[in-house]
Amino acid sequence: MIELAPERDYFPGYAPGPTLAHEVSHSVYAAWTPDAGFEQGQQAFRTRSQQEQAESLSLRLYGPFHEATGPFVDYRLGDEELFAAVFTSRIIEPTAARRNAPQAVDRIEEIVTATVPTLFDKNNLDS
Ligand SMILES: [Zn+2]
Repeated sequence: MIELAPERDYFPGYAPGPTLAHEVSHSVYAAWTPDAGFEQGQQAFRTRSQQEQAESLSLRLYGPFHEATGPFVDYRLGDEELFAAVFTSRIIEPTAARRNAPQAVDRIEEIVTATVPTLFDKNNLDS
């Protein structure tokens, strides 16, 4: 079940369309596994700039991260949730996504193309 809490409407990432895109991204991430022939233990974001850009899109879509210390790191900073944020931004605002986070967007396009090759076919700004 996907809960759409009204008080979260302030940030665009919690609207129904972006929430659907976010959930689709989890299917893509789940398909990017060793069982499907991909390398074990891969991280979507491998460079500091990719990571920082992914975090900036997450901030844009979902608002500030919760400050935490010790082992209680905000789950949104995990690789899969950052992947979801970049993927969602790439779907709902492709121009802004690329402007704000070019390397992070390139990286998720690489992963999406490898896992679900036709997904971005009709959503490609360059064609
Ligand atoms: Zn998620």
